[in-house]
Amino acid sequence: MVGVVVIFTVFAIAINLKDEKAELSKGTQNGEQTETKSDGGAEDGAEEKAEAVQEGIEKGTEEKTEGSDGEGDVVREVEQIGAGQVIALTFDDGPSEFTSGLLDILKREQVPATFFVLGRNASAYPDVIRREIAEGHEVESHTMNHQNLAKLDEASVRAEVYGAEQVICAIENKPNCIKYVRPPYGEVSDVVRSVVPVPMMSWSIDTEDWKSRNPQMIQDRTLSVIKGWAIILMHDVYGTSVEGAERIIKELKAAGFTFVTIDELVQRSGRVLEAGGYYAYFGS
Ligand SMILES: [Zn+2]
Repeated sequence: MVGVVVIFTVFAIAINLKDEKAELSKGTQNGEQTETKSDGGAEDGAEEKAEAVQEGIEKGTEEKTEGSDGEGDVVREVEQIGAGQVIALTFDDGPSEFTSGLLDILKREQVPATFFVLGRNASAYPDVIRREIAEGHEVESHTMNHQNLAKLDEASVRAEVYGAEQVICAIENKPNCIKYVRPPYGEVSDVVRSVVPVPMMSWSIDTEDWKSRNPQMIQDRTLSVIKGWAIILMHDVYGTSVEGAERIIKELKAAGFTFVTIDELVQRSGRVLEAGGYYAYFGS
């Protein structure tokens, strides 16, 4: 759970600054969460107090200061549970009419993502595929038509897998552009394992964005289980998912997590993956 802790409110007047300053130093030395921020119109005393806290921070405590909430003096502090940890955001089933808005957010937040696209939707939105690539995202295959591969015969599995690759790589103008396939519904069979020529990639956190269609629920569900190496499943075919993604990104960035693409996540794990293997998590 990413806790947002309201530390305390600064009242610049009627405070014995000297005593408070001493208390603050003591608090930070003990590793307690002492954080403050004065507003723009604060009196000298409040500024002095803020300096004292700053000294505490420089001594090695891990607090992080966020902007003040406009009028108030309340300071929000987010636990740095994600410091030094990598996670991957993945979006399935697109592109769609909502993908460009998502790309705007990812660009603004400087967050790379991985898109498991459908061949049929890539054909409908080739410019979106090219934008995803141009802006540093990873584009992988979610097959041609989103059928349950485990229920198909070999010829049909081949058509779904290779058909999508052909379409996507033609748009990117790059041969063998697919490094990972995400099978629809997470369903595979021995036939699927033998046909798919690259590793298959599942997920470790299902945001259930397709079910809730509710940004707050997407956020709560994700933040309650987030940990390093997480592969987060979302779908860029709902406006609510785009809004949920924006919330998740802001919270997880504040918590110190680093977003990477699936391929970078795999590289950083040091794992060597097999063609036809099915993978969901790279942490311990
Ligand atoms: Zn899907």
